[in-house]
Amino acid sequence: MDNDELELQIREIIMHALKRRVGYDGFVKAIVKALYPNLSIYVEPELVRKLRILIELIDNTEKPKTPYDVPIEEAKQIITNWKGSRYLVDNLGLPEIYEILRYSMQLGRNINLARIIVFINPWGNTAAFKLAFDEGSMREIARNYVTDFIRGQDELVHEVFGKFMSIEDLISRMNNKLKTNIIHLIKHDLEIKDNDLLIMADHGYDIECGDIMCRLCHGNSCAKPIFSLITPLVIVR
Ligand SMILES: [Zn+2]
Repeated sequence: MDNDELELQIREIIMHALKRRVGYDGFVKAIVKALYPNLSIYVEPELVRKLRILIELIDNTEKPKTPYDVPIEEAKQIITNWKGSRYLVDNLGLPEIYEILRYSMQLGRNINLARIIVFINPWGNTAAFKLAFDEGSMREIARNYVTDFIRGQDELVHEVFGKFMSIEDLISRMNNKLKTNIIHLIKHDLEIKDNDLLIMADHGYDIECGDIMCRLCHGNSCAKPIFSLITPLVIVR
């Protein structure tokens, strides 16, 4: 199973957004617009178009049938051989990945060396990730692969973002909580020059909107999981 196409498309999206100086808010809006073209929010069309291609790619990509079919050995090898800082995050969405790279660029890091390696989590949840790794808990995975474990993101997704709210509320709260939290936690390691970072997550989340109200979900708690199926391995040099 080869997810190179997904990696390239995510890269293209992020590079395009960075070049256009899109902020975290604008990036979230673009995702909402790509998923729900009829919602009346204005976002730069080219970013939305690129995100739509990504959605189609995720939709059409061949997915592991069970967690045991995830090519996790590849991930294990990269993690085991990694020399810099290592993080395991419970739930990391595309907007936070964008923010990590945006912040890294502000710090003067060379974003061209960054990579977002993609694995597909067939269930879009922690359970599938643990089965793929053949470990009992996220904490054990973190312990066995010597990573710092960040668990607050998933709690936020459920507790704060599980219920429907207006798009404006959703975006401003995501900005205040999800974005601020992840940057706060990895900031120190990012600021150390010549320190490479590896950030792996078990899955992402989706943005689900009704007529005007939106919420976050992942895996089978979404009507149609797309972005939550992404298990990212983010490399920042
Ligand atoms: Zn969860």
